[in-house]
Amino acid sequence: MLEVRDPGNGELVYRAPNSTLDDARDAVSAAKTAMEATDWGDNPGQRATALSKLAHALRSSIDWLAPLLTREGGKPLSVSRAEVLRGAEAIEYYAGLARNVYGRSTMLAPDSLAILLREPVGVVSIIVPWNMALSLLTRPLAPALAAGNAVVIKPSSATPGATAEFVQMIDAIPEFPKGMVNFVVGPGSTVGAELVKHPDVDMVSFTGDTSTGKEIMKMAADTLKKVGLELGGKSPNVVFADADFDRAVRGALNAASMFHAGQVCIAGSRLLVEETVHDRFVQRLTEMANRLRVGHGLKEGVQAGPLINEGQLTRVLDYVEVGKREAELVTGGHRLTEGELEKGYFIAPTVFDRVPVTAKIAQDEIFGPVLAVQAFKDEDEAVEIANSTVYGLAGAVWTNDISKAIRMAKKIKSGMVWVNTFGKLYPAGEMGGYKQSGVGRQYGLEGLWEFTELKHINVQL
Ligand code: NAD
Repeated sequence: MLEVRDPGNGELVYRAPNSTLDDARDAVSAAKTAMEATDWGDNPGQRATALSKLAHALRSSIDWLAPLLTREGGKPLSVSRAEVLRGAEAIEYYAGLARNVYGRSTMLAPDSLAILLREPVGVVSIIVPWNMALSLLTRPLAPALAAGNAVVIKPSSATPGATAEFVQMIDAIPEFPKGMVNFVVGPGSTVGAELVKHPDVDMVSFTGDTSTGKEIMKMAADTLKKVGLELGGKSPNVVFADADFDRAVRGALNAASMFHAGQVCIAGSRLLVEETVHDRFVQRLTEMANRLRVGHGLKEGVQAGPLINEGQLTRVLDYVEVGKREAELVTGGHRLTEGELEKGYFIAPTVFDRVPVTAKIAQDEIFGPVLAVQAFKDEDEAVEIANSTVYGLAGAVWTNDISKAIRMAKKIKSGMVWVNTFGKLYPAGEMGGYKQSGVGRQYGLEGLWEFTELKHINVQL
């Protein structure tokens, strides 16, 4: 059994059975059999009903599932509640689309009819990380099922609890044929790798670290299976002097994702501020960061939670030491151990200023509560700094000049750019990575087409 411990206080939260390689193979086999033995792929009404019931079950579970998400992942309860709702919304959205998996048809010549049919890919492995265990699962799961695929799910070993509970909701819905949704737990290097390499897996949908994504792409090459990759980021949050100052400061703190100790893939972990307002901006931001209440996510009033485990704590503190040599530490930069915090993996919200473009803390995804601030003179320099990393997941521009906002949004090389806000995600709005932040898109219609193959049936008339 795998023991899951609360990163905020070390208590035992959940026990999950650790799957073996044979379990992973059985799961793939069950998925393949379910695809072959049922008409799931051709039965959009059944899929829509199944997903609608699942969305309802998930919504109804919020009062007990959100605390479990907080206890195993650390984020404040309000964030976990929002995650459950986001998961339910995604399932509802794709329940609606299940009846709309349209292809096209056209005459190619006077005697030739083309029917372009969207079919399910087949067996899809869905491998997800720990930072938003439920919403990062529902994001690919709902369109994969809506498109008529069978799936094998593997959560991170750090956070299998909420996923295991969620899978039981699926099990209780009769419209999901047995074997259509399978669940294994276990290390990525063995159980996860099997779900990538297995010849009966037709597609891998992976969310996680960029280096793991590269490994997965290489492993998938042997059987040339389809891959969807949602990977790391180092997203730029660009503030111009003409922006609404107070909104932009609040937005920058929210973008840094201190609420989840910076462990958010789309985090605006690089803050670019126009030189003329830079000093005042950093001062206000620092005051607000210092006021954040850090603590256990279930405690009333807590705004920022712990890091996921000791390894991540050490990694982030190592980056802080590097940062001290590269830039100016403005606030934070140390572990918090006072009172109850001693039992968890807490780091004070940390801000570095005057961070050079080439600094490690400006280039690497730290996945911690560490914000790197950089000043810029004009639009050109802002674009240059914004595009200076290998990542391209997200970004934002704050300005009251709409032309400048659109110019910047077009020039920033990332799958998503917000204007005068940060981090808002909608099931109907695509997201995904440019550069080394990923391959393919999730959410929206494109997120549905990812889980289909297009077949051309050509009819001679
Ligand atoms: P990770 O890559 O270590 O693990 C992710 C999942 O992959 C886990 O389930 C793990 O067990 C599995 N895995 C690991 N090695 C594997 C292998 N060789 N074969 C198959 N599976 C394997 O990532 P993590 O530390 O759990 O999560 C944090 C990372 O995820 C960060 O880089 C973050 O930016 C990224 N992320 C990206 C998005 C996005 O939408 N782009 C969203 C959330 C997190």
